This record gives sequence, structure tokens and C-alpha cells, in this order.
Amino acid sequence: MRIARELIDEIVAHARADAPNECCGLVSGTDGHATRVYRARNAERSPLRYTIHPTDQLRIMTEIEDRGEEIAAIYHSHTRTSPEPSQTDINLAENWPDPVYLICSLADPEAPRLRGFAIRDGRVAEVELRVDDE
Ligand SMILES: [Zn+2]
Repeated sequence: MRIARELIDEIVAHARADAPNECCGLVSGTDGHATRVYRARNAERSPLRYTIHPTDQLRIMTEIEDRGEEIAAIYHSHTRTSPEPSQTDINLAENWPDPVYLICSLADPEAPRLRGFAIRDGRVAEVELRVDDE
């Protein structure tokens, strides 16, 4: 997936703003190219898990559809652990297998890391993120 540096910065800023709880949101895109970050509330307000707040999800999905774009990715943060899907994340993805799952880790506060994964049928495969520095 291609993603601009400024979108990564936006996700990191959201992760920092919501820490120590996990943050979450959606990323729209077209043809494998991320175009916009939409912050959502974590309905769980938890440092260990996330649920995109249903009201936010509906509003954001409507806005993405109105723009003629698609949901390219779902992002959330790991404030203390590495950017790898937890078993909870894998279970959650069962209901929504199409988007790329982006995980932003703040385990090293000085060096946030973002990785992408395809999670289908309980299997995890890394999705390469190609960063546009434009
Ligand atoms: Zn997670």
C-alpha cells in the first residue's frame, strides 16, 4: 500500500493523543493508495483493545462513500507493545477481512513504528507500506 508520510504522521499524532489507551480509525484510498486518515473514538477506551465507535464508523464510512473512495485500512495503536497483531486483533478481523490493518506502536516513544497486515481466516501476512515523501 502506498501512503504519504503526512498520513503516517497523522496516525502517530492520534496514537500519542489517545495514549495510554489504544486509538483507532479508518484510512480511505483508491487503487491501493491511501488518501485520507479519519480518526474514530475507541469505544473500549482501553490500553489493550479497540472497537471503532459505531457512530463514528457510520459517519466515516458515509463520508468515504460520498467521496467515491474505499476503505483502504483500519488503524489502531499499541501503546506498549510491538506493531504486530494480537490474537484479539486477529479475532476482530474475522468480521472484516478486506482492509489492510495498520498498527502504530509507541513502544519506543522516540521512534513510533507503523506496519501493515492482511488478516484473513486467522492468518497474518505483512503488507508492504511504500511511503510517499511528497
Ligand atoms: Zn492490536
